[in-house]
Amino acid sequence: MTDCLFCRMVTGEIPADVVHETDRTLAFRDINPQASTHVLVVPKAHHPTVVALAQADPDLLGAVVRAAGEVAVQEGLATEDGVEPGYRMVANTGPAAGQTVHHVHLHVLGGRDLGWPPG
Ligand code: 5GP
Ligand code: ZN
Repeated sequence: MTDCLFCRMVTGEIPADVVHETDRTLAFRDINPQASTHVLVVPKAHHPTVVALAQADPDLLGAVVRAAGEVAVQEGLATEDGVEPGYRMVANTGPAAGQTVHHVHLHVLGGRDLGWPPG
């Protein structure tokens, strides 16, 4: 989709600070970080929401979640076999949750204490 920001980042038309890539996923730093680690993990194929992705291609959703887990390890937020110190994986879905880019993305946030409940 040529009018989709994240599709344009996947093709390289818009530059991204890429931290992880597989054949089907791309992860890059958020332009407006909310924690010392704030990475967005996207499927290279366009799907609007995490639920739409789960319905259309559950294997690809699994690949996105696995990529997010690998980013967390890479960023020192978890180990290969553990979840210390920990991180948050978020998929804002729809306007009330503040989804602004309609190409599904997981936020991987960590490196500070993350409050609960979230805002
Ligand atoms: P949402 O609010 O849809 O869950 O998250 C969209 C995220 O995309 C926001 O955290 C926002 O900072 C990030 N974002 C918006 N435009 C750009 C951009 O051009 N480059 C990068 N790296 N992140 C962006
Ligand atoms: Zn897209």
